[in-house]
Amino acid sequence: MENIYVTKAFLPPYEEYIEMIKPLWESCRISNMGDLHKRLETELASYLEVPMVSLFTNGHTALELLIQAMDLKGEVITTPYTFASTSHAIVRNGLKPVFCDIKEDDYTIDEEKIEALITENTSAILPVHVYGHICNHKALEKISRKHNLKLIYDAAHAFGVKIDGESAVGLGDASMISFHATKVFNTVEGGAVVYSEEELGKKLYGLKNFGIRSETLIDAVGSNSKMDEFRAAMGLCNLKYVTASIAERKKVYDRYLENLSEVKGIRLYYVPDNLDYNYSYFPVFFDKEFYGENVRDYIYEELKKNQIFSRKYFYPLITDMGCYCRDYDSSLTPVASKISEGILTLPLYSDLSLEKVDLISNYVKHYLEEFMKG
Ligand SMILES: *Cc1c(COP(=O)(O)O)cnc(C)c1O
Repeated sequence: MENIYVTKAFLPPYEEYIEMIKPLWESCRISNMGDLHKRLETELASYLEVPMVSLFTNGHTALELLIQAMDLKGEVITTPYTFASTSHAIVRNGLKPVFCDIKEDDYTIDEEKIEALITENTSAILPVHVYGHICNHKALEKISRKHNLKLIYDAAHAFGVKIDGESAVGLGDASMISFHATKVFNTVEGGAVVYSEEELGKKLYGLKNFGIRSETLIDAVGSNSKMDEFRAAMGLCNLKYVTASIAERKKVYDRYLENLSEVKGIRLYYVPDNLDYNYSYFPVFFDKEFYGENVRDYIYEELKKNQIFSRKYFYPLITDMGCYCRDYDSSLTPVASKISEGILTLPLYSDLSLEKVDLISNYVKHYLEEFMKG
């Protein structure tokens, strides 16, 4: 049997990509906001049903430059249960992340614990729609208005998700999406900021191009984060397939649910009725209170022995990472700590066969029984 990885990059038909990039040999305009770049921004805004989209070379710099464009000061309240990128983007802007605990049921930031963390130095809230599970955006909106804070979402996982019929990447003052190879929609590497204020768009446009406004006017200390035409072409090709790809993912997701819903001592995520989900990840929480210490690591290792590569996503917790652990205490976010120690995301991608989903599910059940026997 061949290895089964946790994810697999989606590629469009080879001929379609070649057709899309052919004109580049005529124009020789391969970067700096070319035609394909413009087309992708327009098509994405339309697909995602949002006012405006600004492309970047990756999601991380999109977030970093969005924070810079927002002129934040002091402290930013965020979640420790996320990818390193979220807090790195805060710190690399000279700001201090303040970590709020998450909720047991969907692993997003616990809105009820935010207000206790707000100080006179707080300038923003930066929650994450982790696994495409959408934060309690109405409560977060209320808190940020009440305390005059910016609300920026790390929506890296939320491509194509709708909540109550509304595009999830359009929530808050602005949102970052990632188009990395491993995400639901990819441009090889890539990312975007979704925004609605014209002025913010101008700032972002400058910041991703060294702060250059015109040939002689450079008015911000920007970076370089321009998406090139080859990646924009990949995005335009992939966009045609993403709806179908999400529908395929749903089949995989539903099969896992069917196979694993009766298993005791684990927690799965059941998509609520008001969510049009993108089926981006299949996180399984293994409860050590039920099975005993190290159950998650045991399952991870046994799957690996059978050439199935699941992922401890997210582990370690941000506050346990070498670059943060001296300044933070993970025991202050006990739910996040517990989830991080028990979580495993199982392989999920659009052309993962249902036979393989059954195989993986059976291994999980089998090794849980083995673990119980000791
Ligand atoms: C992937 C990801 C990012 C970073 O996006 P890149 O496009 O890889 O730079 C940020 N936050 C989260 C939660 C992610 O999963």
